[in-house]
Amino acid sequence: MKGIYALVFLFFSSYSPVLAFPQMQVSDISGALPNEIVFIRSGLDHVNTVLQSDCFKNAVLASNFTENQNLSGAQIYALQNSKVTTVKVVMYTGSWWANHISHTIGDENEPSTVYMNRYYVKGAYMVGDNLIHEGEGHSLGFTHYHVKSTSEPYGMNAIYESCAPKVWLN
Ligand SMILES: [Zn+2]
Repeated sequence: MKGIYALVFLFFSSYSPVLAFPQMQVSDISGALPNEIVFIRSGLDHVNTVLQSDCFKNAVLASNFTENQNLSGAQIYALQNSKVTTVKVVMYTGSWWANHISHTIGDENEPSTVYMNRYYVKGAYMVGDNLIHEGEGHSLGFTHYHVKSTSEPYGMNAIYESCAPKVWLN
């Protein structure tokens, strides 16, 4: 019996990231090819690794976003740290215009749904970059006027792009 308990403990302890915050989940994936489902799932792992890193925490604490809902960096981190954010992912094939003229990587015309253009989103890193903008930005009530790099949602992209290489190399 003792052995079984030990195994059960190991099983749950290997899933400890589920209890770590901030955390994102993907509740539904549609329109994706089998290989895309694989890299969407690993993109989710990547984003959670970044979210739970000191690099992410320190960057949010030190942040000074423009569209910040009047929250300080510490208040934004506390909000992110208080809940699991859940998004849906839809993969689609972009139009010629979207792929070559407007360079539309994704769309966000529905709350908590991330539309990803497969012409640009070809791997886990890009998936993570899209997920963090929606999950730790818009899902928590943050907005931006067009592509505004100083807003909270685009700030999430900048932090992800800065932290991801450091977190994965360590
Ligand atoms: Zn946005």
